[in-house]
Amino acid sequence: KRAVDNASEISVRSVLYEGTNAPIIPDHVGLDQYRAEGGYRLLEQVRTGELDAAAIAGKVLEAGLRGLGGAGFPTGTKWKIVNDLPGPKYLTINGDEGEPGTFKDRYHLEHDPHRLLEGALIAAHAISAARIYLYMRDEYPAVLEILAKEIEALRISGIITDIDIELRRGAGAYICGEESAMIESIEGKRGLPRHRPPFIAQVGLFGRPTLNHNVETLFWIRDIVEKGPEWFASQGRRGHKGFRSFSVSGRVKEPGVKLAPAGITMNELLAEFCGGMEDGHTFKGYLPGGASGGILPASLADEPLDFGTLDSHGCFIGSHAIVVFSDQDDMRDVALNLMRFFRHESCGQCTPCRSGTEKMEHLLVSGDWNKEKIADLDAVMRSASICGLGQAAGNPVASVLKFFPEEFER
Ligand code: SF4
Repeated sequence: KRAVDNASEISVRSVLYEGTNAPIIPDHVGLDQYRAEGGYRLLEQVRTGELDAAAIAGKVLEAGLRGLGGAGFPTGTKWKIVNDLPGPKYLTINGDEGEPGTFKDRYHLEHDPHRLLEGALIAAHAISAARIYLYMRDEYPAVLEILAKEIEALRISGIITDIDIELRRGAGAYICGEESAMIESIEGKRGLPRHRPPFIAQVGLFGRPTLNHNVETLFWIRDIVEKGPEWFASQGRRGHKGFRSFSVSGRVKEPGVKLAPAGITMNELLAEFCGGMEDGHTFKGYLPGGASGGILPASLADEPLDFGTLDSHGCFIGSHAIVVFSDQDDMRDVALNLMRFFRHESCGQCTPCRSGTEKMEHLLVSGDWNKEKIADLDAVMRSASICGLGQAAGNPVASVLKFFPEEFER
């Protein structure tokens, strides 16, 4: 059946799923509808030279669009760095949305996949990329089906001509969401993060300059150019620019993806977008940035949520995955749960992370919440691990020691 099918890997996958646990495909904007509503006109303008690619990079920079996978690097600057390097170059799209509590990319792709695909084709044109690699997590079968179908529709319609989009499936490893590990995985190797420098913008996929973007970053390109950078920039609060797609879960009345202004506070997000706390629960604390971004107490829920705003508390916003806890949650359990996650997902390449996460979990499980030992181990992991996983793994534990001392004492 595979031989007869002779189609993409994704089609093979759907054959394997046939009649068993085939994914339910959500209603989404297909190619015809997207084009009828003005889609791919911008790409056409860029390709015909009516709109200069450098001008688009300028608009993206002016809008304040930043890498929304977690790093927050200015998008326009990244385009310029890669564009100035000699070809062949590649565009990679990171759809390995594995940060616990993050599901915004899935939401966007299940509703409006062409907004990402058009953004990707424009970015590829802007840096003269030879090929686009779209790396999607395998735990999103519906998204994989949608993308395979819509990319094929682009080929048939002739919108994809001189460049192709190759859809790659992840295999469930959290670390493959780290950009250099993702590149190793695309190259067919085990997903181990690389030492930097050199950065992947200089020496990336197959040793070539590579522009890597998160799904949501590219999702905004069309709107920014069509509606204007001022429109996007003006959506923020307290001087921050743009929209953010917050993935909100936990003890709130209305969890889900919330399209909210950059710089909004947790209290505002809770009241204006989430319907408040669940009945019978009192707000106690929250993860501002998934598993890695630390834990903040309710007393710090008036801090603006954006890149760099939580640094002084030892926390960060990352991919904007908010998990809300109540008085019924034990923060030591939260920290232990997250440490177990990091221990399990450590790629094992470097000792501070491989042994450190295991040792830290052991300390927590044994009840030995010795502040000095924990701080010592955390410092080694933070300073000597190769990548962000090991460097940030101690954040939840450090947060509990700092902000929930009564739970620590108990
Ligand atoms: Fe692997 Fe952890 Fe080292 Fe990162 S820090 S390279 S995940 S062992």
